Amino acid sequence: MIVVMKKDATPDQISHAVERVEALGLKSHVIEGTERTVIAAIGDKREEMKEALESGAGVSEVVPILAPYKVASREVKPEPTMVTAGSLQVGAGMLGVIAGPCSVESEEQIVRTAHAVKAAGATALRGGAFKPRTSPYSFQGMKEEGLKLMALAREETGLALVTEVMSTDDVDLVSDYADVLQVGARNMQNYRLLEAVGKSHRAVLLKRGASATMDELLLAAEYILNEGNPNVMLCERGIRTFEGHTRFTLPLASVPYLHQKTHLPVVIDPSHGTGHTYLVPDMAAAAVAAGADGLILEVHPDPETALSDGYQSLNFEQFAATMEKCRKVAEAVGLQIHAAEAVAAGR
Ligand code: PEP
Ligand code: MN
Repeated sequence: MIVVMKKDATPDQISHAVERVEALGLKSHVIEGTERTVIAAIGDKREEMKEALESGAGVSEVVPILAPYKVASREVKPEPTMVTAGSLQVGAGMLGVIAGPCSVESEEQIVRTAHAVKAAGATALRGGAFKPRTSPYSFQGMKEEGLKLMALAREETGLALVTEVMSTDDVDLVSDYADVLQVGARNMQNYRLLEAVGKSHRAVLLKRGASATMDELLLAAEYILNEGNPNVMLCERGIRTFEGHTRFTLPLASVPYLHQKTHLPVVIDPSHGTGHTYLVPDMAAAAVAAGADGLILEVHPDPETALSDGYQSLNFEQFAATMEKCRKVAEAVGLQIHAAEAVAAGR
């Protein structure tokens, strides 16, 4: 249920309503909108609870939440959420651009890439240190050593770091270095991991599972939000279909669909979504045209020698050209890209 407070409800009335919700055995999430405050009351509800809550001072009405996900739903929070993590701003009109290699491979590789993507306008640096690989014989990532190299790249450029965490055991370690914890497609339904990143104080980039439905993605986000972490970005990275001309099929309708259903920002990953470098620039621009709040792009100084995903990575020149194109589209659809310096608010 949503307890909708009156526009002029006082802070005391709001905290009283929260106490009432909790006294009924429900979990409360206070969402302060620009117009009014609402309290999402989550749990096993009974009919008489609605009336009990509705009689509270400062309460306007109590309405059911129809979507299966609650805190993620637009019914609870009509205004779009902006997620901020260091130099990265995503959502509510701000277009964040996360760029960098699939995997961190060396100091030179990550530091050079950080400088190059920042010069071209990226607002955060990506790089995998813990890599989920299909084959156990493939490069598994540099682990903590890779995180340290990313931290060095942040020191030099001020770019926020986005990196994957694969296991609950590593959440504390990765949080020590990262500004944004990425939950990969293969882990979208690892519910214990979702709870663990929900308890962390870092923003989360939640990638859609390759065979997950939109409802499953939103319910996965709900696990994170439910732990009290409001800074969740959803990422469409392509789904598995019968089609073979691309590595995955990248459904850009996810952007307007998710914007209808949730206030959370939507990031598009055209690198994994297509699996081919030559398809990435156009799909990145198309994602911006569809209203995406962010892009995550694989960029490597020399894609041919990359230890993972070189075939879908842009080189520095290609990334700069992609940014140029996206900037024009962003302007046309009313999205802003803030230069990293402008938001380098510290971590
Ligand atoms: C990645 O971002 O490098 C990655 C492994 O992505 P996904 O989880 O979408 O496959
Ligand atoms: Mn990759």
